[in-house]
Amino acid sequence: MKFVGAHVSASGGVENAPLNAKNIGAKAFALFTKNQRQWVAKPLTQASIDAFKANLEASGILPKHVLPHDSYLINLGHPEEEKLEKSREAFIDELRRCEQLGLDKLNFHPGSHLVKISKRDPQYEEKLREAELSCLDVIAESMNAAIAATEGSEVKLVIENTAGQGSNLGYRFEHLAHLIDKVEDKSRVGICLDTCHTFTAGYDLRTKEAYDETMEAFGRIVGFEYLMGMHINDSKPKLGSRVDRHHSLGQGEIGWDAFRFIMNDPRMDDIPLILETIDEEIWPEEIRQLYALVEA
Ligand SMILES: [Zn+2]
Ligand SMILES: [Zn+2]
Repeated sequence: MKFVGAHVSASGGVENAPLNAKNIGAKAFALFTKNQRQWVAKPLTQASIDAFKANLEASGILPKHVLPHDSYLINLGHPEEEKLEKSREAFIDELRRCEQLGLDKLNFHPGSHLVKISKRDPQYEEKLREAELSCLDVIAESMNAAIAATEGSEVKLVIENTAGQGSNLGYRFEHLAHLIDKVEDKSRVGICLDTCHTFTAGYDLRTKEAYDETMEAFGRIVGFEYLMGMHINDSKPKLGSRVDRHHSLGQGEIGWDAFRFIMNDPRMDDIPLILETIDEEIWPEEIRQLYALVEA
């Protein structure tokens, strides 16, 4: 069975997110557990935690179908020690907030190396590869440190694949596999595939053949046992553009077929499937349309 929802607002308090999800007919949702554009947030109050749990229960949505997203400021691969430390601390705080809310996942973007290499440099390819590999190792180190700091917790660190814009890593399935490989406690790690990011990173999804090929590569390189969520977005930019711009379903370069393949793929059963499409007014309709794609 499929569990579709959207990244809903938690404005006014995290306890509002399950209500917002229920209002759009969602069976899953994503949220920020703190303001995503600020470093420091007040701790969650016990009243807010209790209200979140009560509202979640009343919504009928299961904790495993909630996929919290971390702050955009966090870069677990930051090349500067001080900023890396700040990111690591903020990330651990986010993990603790998920734990407090009784949730078992935290979705995050791996990180960026921020190294500038001139394309005219004759060793461009070599230097880029070196910057990427050493950044991936820093990210894995951050993940291991966060897991150690939250020992005993069951919150999984769910790595999202990226479009590969700028120096963002995670745009190749090999990057995701590299991170998993370096994480010592594999029971604490998972993957979230974003369809827009997958597509703009160069993995086609538009025909059954292309979809099968992309998913076969994911299964072979990463493994479906790690797939713990998906972001369901169409894409404004073209295949392989390495640009991250979401679109409403069916209005972008990906098109409806890809979403039909997902809705009929048992490998996506029982995980949160989250819309991050650009027009939240039509989320109820997009959710309804996705469920209508399920073939009997
Ligand atoms: Zn996403
Ligand atoms: Zn995106």
